[in-house]
Amino acid sequence: MTATLAAPVQDRNPLVAARSQLADAIALLDYGPGMLDMLGTPRREVTVSVPLRRDDGSVEVLIGHRVQHNLSRGPAKGGVRFGPHVSLDEVRALAMWMTWKCALVNIPYGGAKGGVTLDPRQYSRGELQRVTRRYTSELMPLLGPTTDIPAPDIGTDEQVMSWMMDTYSVNRGHTVLGVVTGKPVALGGSLGRASATSRGVVHVALAALGHRGIAVRGATAAVQGFGKVGRDAARLLADAGVRVLAVSDQYGAVHDPAGLDVPALMEHVDSTGSVVGFAASEPMDAGDDLLYLDVDLLVPAAVEAVINADNAHRVQASVIAEGANGPTTPAADEVLAEAGVLVVPDILANAGGVIVSYFEWVQANQAYWWSEDDVNARLAERMQSAWEGVVAYAERRAISLRRAATTLAVETVANAHLARGLYP
Ligand code: GLU
Repeated sequence: MTATLAAPVQDRNPLVAARSQLADAIALLDYGPGMLDMLGTPRREVTVSVPLRRDDGSVEVLIGHRVQHNLSRGPAKGGVRFGPHVSLDEVRALAMWMTWKCALVNIPYGGAKGGVTLDPRQYSRGELQRVTRRYTSELMPLLGPTTDIPAPDIGTDEQVMSWMMDTYSVNRGHTVLGVVTGKPVALGGSLGRASATSRGVVHVALAALGHRGIAVRGATAAVQGFGKVGRDAARLLADAGVRVLAVSDQYGAVHDPAGLDVPALMEHVDSTGSVVGFAASEPMDAGDDLLYLDVDLLVPAAVEAVINADNAHRVQASVIAEGANGPTTPAADEVLAEAGVLVVPDILANAGGVIVSYFEWVQANQAYWWSEDDVNARLAERMQSAWEGVVAYAERRAISLRRAATTLAVETVANAHLARGLYP
């Protein structure tokens, strides 16, 4: 392979991105190579095979991972992803980002991530239940409300969390509500958890527009992804008076220069399974084209590395609020910084999910549940203070919001590690 082909491939590897962000923060903080090694290496990685009996009676052996990146500040915390391209490197990167995210918003967790390599759309509900239960069983020694607490991510949902919680509880012999978050409200979930990530994204997106002197009412936006994050983000943006010009999902994109009717689009998606074909809109040729629209705000809320060395120069938005984990590669970050685009980084922008996961865990452990208003108010408070902290640090050091957020988080984790000391 030629060097010109190799560079973009490396640029899109999330682990390469996560490690280069860490190395940059370590250098800014003047820590030595020992700290880079310490924080760059996951504490535990487990790969398990997940044998599945398919509905037709055949047996297929799937592969699953769980990576606990850091445990210095508390139990490992992070989602479980079901996807056809899930790899150990991807899970490692996502686990590292969870560590920084939890530290940045000051919740007492380390970072983790899990995943099973399968395309959930190719499996029945019964098959997915068996995959989930076997994967959970294989991870029993790691999981627990004081050790490692999974949550939903791409390809998993409240139902998957219910099966995980049930499998863990049955094996333990008693109900353990605090072992996973993102559970349905009927099973000890928290009010406000389902929309928490989106609420947090919109909170900082509006703050960032304000920071740029752009009036929220009438500002324009494009949202990539219409799943757990993008859907409610589009709705809440529209509620705030932002004109959402375009949204996409994995099947395609729709566009309306006058602003999409988001509630009507949500109904369309509920009945057809995709944004494609929404009558009150124009289809867009390629889903990616939405990234290049001349809008005030771009919310990538799908997968990693969608804004990369190849296309970053085509982005026209003034503000990017990262709903997804790792949507912007380090090479793209440089291009965007050069162009003056304000990027609100993932570990800040999408932290609302894990913040309300933390609230869910606190409520479950205390067996005392809060009102939705309480949850939303406490979420807003934490997002606002994290936003203000990152902006102040970025201005003080004249660095981007991503470098500021990562550096603040790395310093918090390093301090916890140094205070505990190395054992033995
Ligand atoms: N998967 C979500 C994230 O990437 C939520 C994690 C959690 O709540 O533990 O932040």
